Amino acid sequence: MNQLVFASSNIHKTAEVSALLLPHYKVLNLVDIGCLTDIPETGDSFAENATLKSTYVAENFKLDCFADDSGLEVEALNNEPGIFSARYSGSRGDELNLNYLLAKMEGISNRKARFKTVISLLLGGKNYIFEGVINGELRTQPIGTTGFGYDPIFQPDGYAETFAQMPMAQKNKISHRAIALQKLIGFLKARS
Ligand code: IMP
Repeated sequence: MNQLVFASSNIHKTAEVSALLLPHYKVLNLVDIGCLTDIPETGDSFAENATLKSTYVAENFKLDCFADDSGLEVEALNNEPGIFSARYSGSRGDELNLNYLLAKMEGISNRKARFKTVISLLLGGKNYIFEGVINGELRTQPIGTTGFGYDPIFQPDGYAETFAQMPMAQKNKISHRAIALQKLIGFLKARS
């Protein structure tokens, strides 16, 4: 079976991706290939950061690889926090970042926001980019307990609940990550 590296050491993400790709590809993560480096994400966009990670693996391990980068873009804040979503408040704590964003949004009536994921697939030396976006609005108070990050304040368009009020399986069907991943899978299936 063909093998593909997913440039992540997050076991939850890897398990989800593995299950979706399994009939076509065996997915290895960074730990599986012995890559213990914290690959620098110094790009100016999700695509650049995803490409930095996939390129690192392709160059150092000579393996086909894909990598993702995601975040939240808030219209009224010129698309902040964007690539800085994981440490918007200056630290990595989800709750700190969420509260920092809520404080910035105080008194702002335009609550439009979107989650975005970009995947870079380096296959045979070529870079293929796949993007997933989900539009929604920011609540003024966190609500719900599932998920992570900004889920308790993000309400996707067409739904009455935040991501954090949805069962994980439902979020995983409609999320930015799911959309990008389905595009990647469609591409890989068409080639296998
Ligand atoms: P990553 O690139 O998937 O690790 O995401 C970077 C950061 O974006 C996370 O640490 C979160 O702050 C935020 N983020 C990305 N995806 C989600 C999501 O599905 N829900 C909530 N926050 C997210």
